[in-house]
Amino acid sequence: MRRRLALVGTVLALAACGQAYKLRPLRPEETSVLAAAANPLLRQLGYMRPPAPCRYGVSFNDVEGRELEVVRSNSTEVCLSFYLTNGALSLPPAGLRALIAHGLGHLHLDHTTTTGRRVSTRTGRGTQSVSEQARLYTPEEETAADRYAANLLAAVTPGPQGEGCLALGAVLERAVAEGS
Ligand SMILES: [Zn+2]
Repeated sequence: MRRRLALVGTVLALAACGQAYKLRPLRPEETSVLAAAANPLLRQLGYMRPPAPCRYGVSFNDVEGRELEVVRSNSTEVCLSFYLTNGALSLPPAGLRALIAHGLGHLHLDHTTTTGRRVSTRTGRGTQSVSEQARLYTPEEETAADRYAANLLAAVTPGPQGEGCLALGAVLERAVAEGS
């Protein structure tokens, strides 16, 4: 009986801790990938103005799931914090940028989320990390964040080749992925 209680306690503790976390610092080349995707957006939004350009912190979770979130930092060292997974960082550059733009949309539109929002689910192949994020933003908020992202991406990459449109396509692709 005691043993069963202990097991229940362990399961609850694991659930409370959320999904599998394999947090590690970004490698230099990964930092460059993130900066290349994020900096033009942050510059466009006025975060990079001298003399105090925004320094952002990164929590990197080395798991396959595709998650990215941008929050305001309450530290004096950094102005924004990125939480992202390897699945997000591994996206093609336009997709990664679109995902960041979407995250900035949630941030700037003041969409609030609850804490402890990530959980792991069991699948046939074992425990798989998934995002519960999509369930906590309303469909209206997701649409608004996508619209915000599309405008931001168009402002950053209005190029004659229609890069903004490509990026928007990536946003929509994200929405499909997030919703499934
Ligand atoms: Zn979203």
